[in-house]
Amino acid sequence: MEKYRFTYQDIHRTARDIADRVKASGFEPDIIVAIGSGGFIPARIIRTFLGKPILAVGVAYYDANDKPTDLPHKVQWIEEAEKKLAGKRILLVDEVDDSRTTLEYCVRELLRHDPAEVAVAVLHDKKKDKRGAIPAEVKRYFAGRTIPDKWIVYPWDAEDIDDHDAMAADNPPID
Ligand code: 5GP
Repeated sequence: MEKYRFTYQDIHRTARDIADRVKASGFEPDIIVAIGSGGFIPARIIRTFLGKPILAVGVAYYDANDKPTDLPHKVQWIEEAEKKLAGKRILLVDEVDDSRTTLEYCVRELLRHDPAEVAVAVLHDKKKDKRGAIPAEVKRYFAGRTIPDKWIVYPWDAEDIDDHDAMAADNPPID
């Protein structure tokens, strides 16, 4: 199966593009919420450009016995901090929008705390039929790059970053 490999340089540039577009849109988040673990590094880079604090949440697709689950559930949530989300403009960040189930779940959870606005940012949006839907309350969706539906290997998953970077030169075409 063909895969995309993105380098840390690619990720940094894509995160900067997202931040530029967030700024150009006029959306000024009060807080960045990173979906772990894939959203942690993108959120941190975006923070370099937007300068806002990050809260982290974690969702998983396996149960206590390591059995796969159909829907995501929380493994880590903001709890104390979520009380502070009321009236806030939130930028929710993840690395990839694949089936969209995770984003739908996290947006719905955040909306329960009466934020002023929730916007979504992902490094990569896969072109495909989505199982989940972004709730209508979300008016701004920033995808760094829209790519064909292939598996993405991120640099933070590489055991040998030099091999990873070398193989990234042979990515399938994107457009
Ligand atoms: P969803 O299907 O809910 O949009 O994505 C669920 C999660 O699966 C993502 O947050 C991400 O962690 C993981 N995922 C989906 N597609 C890919 C991919 O192509 N590469 C990697 N590394 N993770 C992916």
